[in-house]
Amino acid sequence: MRQRRFETDREYAEKLDREDPLRSFRSRFHIPTDTIYLDGNSLGLLSHDTERTLHRVLGEWRTLGIRGWLEGTPPWFYFAERLGETAAGLVGALPEEVVATGTTTLNIHALVGTLYRPEGGRTKILAGALDFPTDIYALKSQIELRGLDSTDHLVLVPSSDGRLIDEETIVSLMTDEIALILLPSVLYRSGQLLDIGRLTGEARRRGICIGFDCSHSVGAVPHRFDDDDVDFAVWCSYKYLNGGPGSPAFLYLNKRHFGREPALAGWFGYVKERQFDMSLEFEHARSAGGWQISSPSILGSTAVEGALNLIIEAGLENIRSKSLAMTSYLIHLVDSMLTGAPYGFSIGTPREPGRRGGHVALERGSEAMRINEALKARGVIPDFRPPNIIRIAPVALYNTYGEVWQLVHHLREIIDGKEYERFSGERGLIP
Ligand SMILES: *Cc1c(COP(=O)(O)O)cnc(C)c1O
Repeated sequence: MRQRRFETDREYAEKLDREDPLRSFRSRFHIPTDTIYLDGNSLGLLSHDTERTLHRVLGEWRTLGIRGWLEGTPPWFYFAERLGETAAGLVGALPEEVVATGTTTLNIHALVGTLYRPEGGRTKILAGALDFPTDIYALKSQIELRGLDSTDHLVLVPSSDGRLIDEETIVSLMTDEIALILLPSVLYRSGQLLDIGRLTGEARRRGICIGFDCSHSVGAVPHRFDDDDVDFAVWCSYKYLNGGPGSPAFLYLNKRHFGREPALAGWFGYVKERQFDMSLEFEHARSAGGWQISSPSILGSTAVEGALNLIIEAGLENIRSKSLAMTSYLIHLVDSMLTGAPYGFSIGTPREPGRRGGHVALERGSEAMRINEALKARGVIPDFRPPNIIRIAPVALYNTYGEVWQLVHHLREIIDGKEYERFSGERGLIP
């Protein structure tokens, strides 16, 4: 993307909003009253479209009862596969390589359980020291389930600055002891986007199975899993996909693995035409659907359906380009107005657009947590991640450049008036 030059005045933000090709999408969402919502990387907002699809399925349940499994539109029985087909377009996969199912963590268990084959000298798993904790918990338990010791079988790529992971270092740790790699597409704190294509090429050349947790990228960043030849991937639906709290996650499994036996078998992974034969011999579908375990949550899946359709209507490439323009604009405003005394903010996210996901990490040497509290008291919703990061996610579908401008001015006023001193600095249960 061409480096843009931005101005710092409010009129300029308004001009960017007027010229925004996605500006009409904001009114399709419920924006919480008097709120500047910048936390779509944790929980995306509800759209009117999603509300409508939910009402549709409630109506089906009301009028059809059990018949909804085959007579719903689409039939509930095929819902998870249908959603997978829709989502496949966002990640560059074949329709049968993606299914909506389970949760991110459960899907890690299902896929790592299947693909992690410690053999001979190749017994270890490689992940990142800055990964989202649940990924590490899941990997450790997968190692322990094999009767191996996770303290020496889980290798974590170190970070030299606590923000970024160096791709060279990752590659240098792809030794012949490594059986499987799981990495995030985007690091949840700093927002660094890893080069999936390059890392996958290096891993596959060494005979290592590689997968990605794309919870912080799908819906904000396009992927090309098949072109890159990734082995597997997982992602949740409630961040940039706006699928609703706790809605079903997704899994991608490259078709070369369809013949493997699912490690966590369950009746919804059965070949669909014969699932209701109720045989005691498990026969899994030769598609990502084979890795489902249980009945899909139709209510949750319906929320995901409405949200996905909106993203596809807007176009993921358009979303990515507005998202990058907004984060570049935010970085420019922070550089111009929030560095130096007394403001003291800095950017913890890579400045090259191609190395960024959808959010920006604002760092400050001290008081970041109380400043985050002061922002929330002013109706600005970011989130805080210890030790000193305020994450800001301007979401292309519903945030404006004007809101980014206002955020920066709120921060200046909070520092100018030492407003943060009024807050306790004790971390809430969910910061
Ligand atoms: C949000 C997120 C998850 C969430 O896991 P669930 O099992 O769906 O609760 C997992 N991994 C990463 C990297 C995330 O960002």
